[in-house]
Amino acid sequence: MSDSIPVTSSEPVRPCGKCNVCCTIMGVDELDKGMWERCSNLATTRGCSCYDTRPASCRKFECMWRYGLGSNRARPDKSGVMFVMTPDRYGLVAFVDARQPNAWRKGEGARVVDEYLGKGVPVFVATPKSRKALLPERSGLSASKLEAMKQQFLNDELT
Ligand code: SF4
Ligand code: SF4
Repeated sequence: MSDSIPVTSSEPVRPCGKCNVCCTIMGVDELDKGMWERCSNLATTRGCSCYDTRPASCRKFECMWRYGLGSNRARPDKSGVMFVMTPDRYGLVAFVDARQPNAWRKGEGARVVDEYLGKGVPVFVATPKSRKALLPERSGLSASKLEAMKQQFLNDELT
């Protein structure tokens, strides 16, 4: 396997449109905002109310749907699943919308999970109440690397 997962672009290729899922799911230390907590800067209809001065955490956040992962229907507000790379960029974390905790098991969420497992990429599923590590049957990553990634995901704080 190369040094990153096989997404379709190295640059964002899609606009967020009406989605604002990351502004609830991701944690923002600068705002003391926890994960799966709706950001207080998220306006009802206009998205981020402080976009030009948003924190660094928001600026550097990478949602893989914007980079071409999955179909248009996999947009996080439609699928209920927001995919990001693991810190080492060898795997995916599937953050699941709290209102749809089974979204990763069905529809576009499940299709993306199956696609990347088929490519040998481990997928780590996180909901507000649970974590699940899905390891591929065949992968260019060694068994010890996969196990280390699994343990890191299960034991570390998510950011
Ligand atoms: S989750 Fe992805 S598509 Fe949705 S608003 Fe955030 S970056 Fe955009
Ligand atoms: S500050 Fe803006 S971009 Fe950052 S989480 Fe809040 S609403 Fe989203």
